[in-house]
Amino acid sequence: MSDLLNRLKARLAEIEDVEYAAAILEWDQFVMMPPAGGEGRSYQYATLQKLAHELYVTGEMGRLIEALGRAYASAPADDDDAALVRVVERQYRRKTRIPAALVAETFQATSFAQEVWARARANNDFGAFQPHLERIFDLKRQVAACFPEVEAPYDALLDEYEPGMRTSQVRAMFAELKAELVPLVQAIAARPPIDDSVLRRGYAPADQLAASQQVLERFGYDFSAGRQDLSVHPFCTGLGLRDVRVTTRVDPNYLSTCLMGSMHECGHALYELGFPARHARTPLAHGASLGIHESQSRMWENLVGRSREFWGFFYPRLQAIFPGQLGQAPLEIFYRAINRVTPSLIRVEADEVTYNLHTLLRFELEVELLDGRLAAADAPAAWNAKVKECFGLDVPDNRLGVLQDTHWAAGLIGYFPTYTIGNLASVQFFNQALADVPRLSAEIARGEFAGLLSWLRHNVHAHGCKYLPADLVQRVTGRPLGAKDYLGYLKKKYSALYGL
Ligand code: ZN
Repeated sequence: MSDLLNRLKARLAEIEDVEYAAAILEWDQFVMMPPAGGEGRSYQYATLQKLAHELYVTGEMGRLIEALGRAYASAPADDDDAALVRVVERQYRRKTRIPAALVAETFQATSFAQEVWARARANNDFGAFQPHLERIFDLKRQVAACFPEVEAPYDALLDEYEPGMRTSQVRAMFAELKAELVPLVQAIAARPPIDDSVLRRGYAPADQLAASQQVLERFGYDFSAGRQDLSVHPFCTGLGLRDVRVTTRVDPNYLSTCLMGSMHECGHALYELGFPARHARTPLAHGASLGIHESQSRMWENLVGRSREFWGFFYPRLQAIFPGQLGQAPLEIFYRAINRVTPSLIRVEADEVTYNLHTLLRFELEVELLDGRLAAADAPAAWNAKVKECFGLDVPDNRLGVLQDTHWAAGLIGYFPTYTIGNLASVQFFNQALADVPRLSAEIARGEFAGLLSWLRHNVHAHGCKYLPADLVQRVTGRPLGAKDYLGYLKKKYSALYGL
């Protein structure tokens, strides 16, 4: 048995190596590569991806997985080797069920669609993008049909990002959120707006980067195992257990972009840096799901980074970096500014309260587009109606509406709910951390984060993707993932901020 397992691990290690090599090509593309390198890079990246796929779907892998699956069927769920076999069985099933021709067709269709989408967005021309949107949803219907055992076709797509999660659960989660968030947003919109002009003064980019680097070091990000660079869209990429990099972007006239964005990516990086060494070069050294990954970034960005405790400690340090801009601004003004709530049209600029309404409307639309109830041609009108319902806003053009996100063009259908799952899980985990270690708030107020990080390392990071996300949340918090903690957190914090 251990012989079979060792053979499996040896194959997996090679596949991990190829995937990390592809990831560094991707990091280079977004951080270092000269613009003219794009065409060559797309071939190199596609070749490595194809190689990794071919190494996975061999007959030998199939036989190893089948034999080991039988052998570990009754092993304890928390046994590392049993978990590895489970994870690999899942991945193998996904990779072999979808025909190679359909994978290739989807890859081509989405590469082309992303170029068309970028132009369509720039020109506010939904008509140019519409046939591509139809094609992508058609291909995704074919992908879903490869998994006839699922309850709803969308389940098959969701499963790629959030293993084990079902559409019916996501629908229930959003229904609970919507019932509470829409009135909360209305109540806040009826109050005098918070003035956030303190964030919108001139802030030198180099100083912004220095401030964010200080925060990252405080949080416990190890710069000997990572680095922070600039990119158009911030991201975090793991290139092995001791090389996890983040990127950020800087707006010289808006402080939050770099500072809060850096905290967010740092949260992702701390997760990846926390996977145990014994899982190196195995599929277990990855996040449990996109939602769990997002719970980590949101926790550092919002629960820590937008808290009064954190700024009580860090604000004087930020004032020292920006004496001209912040020297005369009291902490309370700054704290209120970074927590301002504004119903807006753009998801990536949304605050904690309105964010999940943006993901909700995308989820509702993509379920309808997938099952054919909504035609691609009617997507803009349906989008605009939902924006009106959720935010009370009119969408002036499709650039600020249905064309704003790249996800659909990129074929990432089933992805949006993971942002909200992450938000919910971030609060549920954080509440559990406070219950387990009551001194955490006082530590954060002193600029000490080792207590929180070690709680996360022990309870969340150490497991990698050994457990399904739902099982991990249950295991850590003793309860299934729900909206109650998140809604409680929002209502308490924003009632105080807005005097509701
Ligand atoms: Zn994120």
